[in-house]
Amino acid sequence: MVAIYKSLIKSQLLIGGNWCASSQSETFSVVNPATGELIAQVADATPIDAERAINAAVCAQPGWAEKTANERSWLLRRWFDLVMQNQEALALLLTSEQGKPLAESRAEIAYGASYIEWFAEEAKRNYGDVIPPLTNNQRIQVIKQPVGVVAAITPWNFPCAMLARKLAPALAAGCVILAKPAAETPLSALALGQLALDAGIPAGVINILPTTRAQAIGEVFTANSKVRKLSFTGSTLVGKKLIAQCAGDVKRITLELGGNAPFIVFDDADLDAAVTGAMVAKFRNAGQTCVCANRFYIHQAIYEVFCEKLAAAMQMLVLGNGMVEGVTTGPLISRSAANKAQAFVDDALQRGARLVYQGDVQTSATESFAQGHFFPPTLLAEVPQDARLAREEIFGPVAGLIRFSTEEQVIQLANASDYGLACYVYTRDVNRIHRLSDRLQTGMLGINTGLISNAAAPFGGIKQSGWGREGSHYGMDDYVNIKYLCEAFS
Ligand code: ADP
Repeated sequence: MVAIYKSLIKSQLLIGGNWCASSQSETFSVVNPATGELIAQVADATPIDAERAINAAVCAQPGWAEKTANERSWLLRRWFDLVMQNQEALALLLTSEQGKPLAESRAEIAYGASYIEWFAEEAKRNYGDVIPPLTNNQRIQVIKQPVGVVAAITPWNFPCAMLARKLAPALAAGCVILAKPAAETPLSALALGQLALDAGIPAGVINILPTTRAQAIGEVFTANSKVRKLSFTGSTLVGKKLIAQCAGDVKRITLELGGNAPFIVFDDADLDAAVTGAMVAKFRNAGQTCVCANRFYIHQAIYEVFCEKLAAAMQMLVLGNGMVEGVTTGPLISRSAANKAQAFVDDALQRGARLVYQGDVQTSATESFAQGHFFPPTLLAEVPQDARLAREEIFGPVAGLIRFSTEEQVIQLANASDYGLACYVYTRDVNRIHRLSDRLQTGMLGINTGLISNAAAPFGGIKQSGWGREGSHYGMDDYVNIKYLCEAFS
């Protein structure tokens, strides 16, 4: 099995179309979170490497921007085809470095690729505008131009898709990119880089810098005024620092930050559909997504039934190595992530929550758990609103149920958060759906569904969940400057 993806393992920096060692010849280990096994030693980029990459990107920028939209579209399409032709190998690589079950990895590769396909098409539709002028001797035109060199910093939870979501619109708009993947999962990003080269995307258009020096590399990106934009997906804490760093030269910035998604089930909902949606929204990627259901608000009239049904569904989850057929829940990314999940459970229990169900780490697995960072799927009821489970992003397979009685009350509870990324609502009342759509403070609302992400839709948040949108025709906006031309004629 390993042989399938070995040819796609790249372990050096991609700068100006060349694979190269770090300036200090240093490397770091990439380890399988399910087994603790070493997968690769990867070059550890330094600030000097980041400067080299910026220079390579600056050189590549004019040539890429001058290509016609059709040429860029065609290259993106070729890249999409290569990613899909290598879907299985990329999925195996992804599961080995990130831990998610193979079926989810296959889905992530297809999901990431769908952004490349989408923006291959959008590249040709990056339309400007002609606006009726205020006088008859004027013509007002609007054109869109690439912002220039873009830096992208991405997290470990979707190492392929989070990067594809930035690379594809940037390239479609005519920008070139410097990508810094998370140190836990650099291999998927590097493999995407190789496939982009294979597709014929010119040298220097995509530069990839795996590193353990996230802060130092981030400082180089933000301090250098040749970098005209930063696109970041990660924690709100780091996002705030990057906003401050970008203030120096008023760099444009797109931020996809943390979430604390409410999952609301009313007493008129289809409860089986709500349980199905809850399983997807909570347990995909072992709970490690920014749109994961974080707070379950269940109407008091159906609270006990929903709790029983969810516990029954959770008993079907199989914890283990994502490479093993039938496993539905992989390890968490690190020991500290598993410790944090435990601390959240302990905190809720101390505040009076009730443990309804917890999977068994020892028996539900097919392999040794000694080296893996596993945490069992856990269901708690009667979680108080002030518990950490309700206030902070969990990023683990722990679900906590909170009881509510009225629509007004649950709107207040759902909105009582600094975050506003995703929200899910289950109800059959169409009037209520419209009221909630207006009043819930969120960038995205799943109505009778637990799965909302796709390339055709604008992904993003409000409040401290971020700025900007990824995917859809709105996704190009973040990578273009609008220029207005005022032409007088007689
Ligand atoms: P997470 O909790 O998901 O790891 P982080 O915000 O810490 O969230 O990490 C997301 C990405 O941001 C990763 O690529 C990480 O290496 C990078 N990162 C972390 N700290 C900084 C920083 N100070 N400056 C720039 N990038 C950073």
